[in-house]
Amino acid sequence: MRFKGGYKFKKFEGTAEPVLHEMPVPEKIVILYSEILLDTLVPCVKEGDAVSAGVKILESKGPPVTTLVSPVNGTVSKIDNGTITITTDGSSAFKPVKGHTREPWHLNRAEVFDLFCETGCRLLLDSRFASIKSCDTVRNVIVNAVHNSPLNQGWTPEIFGDNLLVSNGLRTLAALFHDAEIVLAINKRNKKQFEIPGIEKYAKISVMSDRYPQEHPELLSRDTVDRRLISPDGVADASILVVPFSDMILIAEVMTQGRPLIDRIVRIAGPGVSKPGWYRVRIGTTFEELNTHLFKQDHQGPWRIIRGDVFFGEGFESLDGSVMFSDREISVIREHAVRVLFSFMRPGIAADSYSKTTLAEYISILPRKLETSVHGGVRPCVQCNYCDEVCPVDIYPFLIWKHMGVEEAEESFRLRPYDCIECGLCDYVCPSKIDISPSVKRAKDEYLRLRRADEVSD
Ligand code: SF4
Ligand code: SF4
Repeated sequence: MRFKGGYKFKKFEGTAEPVLHEMPVPEKIVILYSEILLDTLVPCVKEGDAVSAGVKILESKGPPVTTLVSPVNGTVSKIDNGTITITTDGSSAFKPVKGHTREPWHLNRAEVFDLFCETGCRLLLDSRFASIKSCDTVRNVIVNAVHNSPLNQGWTPEIFGDNLLVSNGLRTLAALFHDAEIVLAINKRNKKQFEIPGIEKYAKISVMSDRYPQEHPELLSRDTVDRRLISPDGVADASILVVPFSDMILIAEVMTQGRPLIDRIVRIAGPGVSKPGWYRVRIGTTFEELNTHLFKQDHQGPWRIIRGDVFFGEGFESLDGSVMFSDREISVIREHAVRVLFSFMRPGIAADSYSKTTLAEYISILPRKLETSVHGGVRPCVQCNYCDEVCPVDIYPFLIWKHMGVEEAEESFRLRPYDCIECGLCDYVCPSKIDISPSVKRAKDEYLRLRRADEVSD
């Protein structure tokens, strides 16, 4: 099935510039190692120890032995409750990875796998890869280079390095997932940048739509290998692995160039960010530190800080916590709870509108605004079908919403609420500002609950 529906976001305020910045080394880093999916990591340093960036501080009991290196030079100031805090000396130097090789694909399988674990690259993927055998269950690796969410329209592969790094990443994944076909899923907007000589030897290139949410793993799986990532019963297909492009680049840097796994590449964007773009951020950098260096201050806001993309991410309750392995995107948008007086009389010079009712659609002077506003509150459904049009999984969100409004969950099942990928696009385009997707999610949860109850009683 090919991609249908979706929405192309154009020219939004705060879109990430195609630039990779280096965040300054923070004053301290806090690693929440108890939250890393791999739950057996234990510290191999103690309070008061001096540590160097690139030298092991946490290790799994194994096998396989997986390590996490210090992201900074400094002193371990605290180890407590599954966190390790390091006060840094501000220097940016690091020790190279021991045992890295320019061409890991020439190693034997056990050696490639050991390097993957010992360098911590295993922590970039999900926790299922605990043995070579588990890698052999993967039949399709999909590298996700699609990038089409509202603040992510300027991405190009060159941001992260040269063509050699891309090829090295693909070849390293092929060495690790020996029995898998490697697919590089790219946005048609970036087709030219992926015309890398010889790349087709290492991966099949799949050119994807530039409409959001084509980048969603479920849609990538459906549109590249024609299989579901998650079944209607909520079971993940273990033979498919979706790897974000930036994580493949980090794996290539670590295993083929010897840069230790000390940072994450994070897209930090939105109207509340002073220089929206991509950042190398040392692992464990606190959100407070990002706030000080990158986010605009409260008097220019108020702002909502979202861990992730504006549609899929979660709003920060507080700035406690720090950048860890699951952080790839941080978005800061305007918190807009105030009703705008006479909004219906305004031409909307900077307002996005799926129904093409604002001036911004015809005269593109200002970038469009991205905010949390519901533009005046909920109105009745006008049966416009916009939510059906944009839904990428071809279900009828407003009919499901209607069924759920009268508590007819089982009636809604024939409309396949279990296919919803929770992209939130139906809510975004609805001119009546109805929160449709929470109702679809409620129907989906009810379907899963009844399926599991059936399984238990069988
Ligand atoms: S019903 Fe689900 S998949 Fe369809 S647009 Fe709404 S949130 Fe996205
Ligand atoms: S987009 Fe909103 S108003 Fe239009 S059909 Fe869907 S729920 Fe109704």
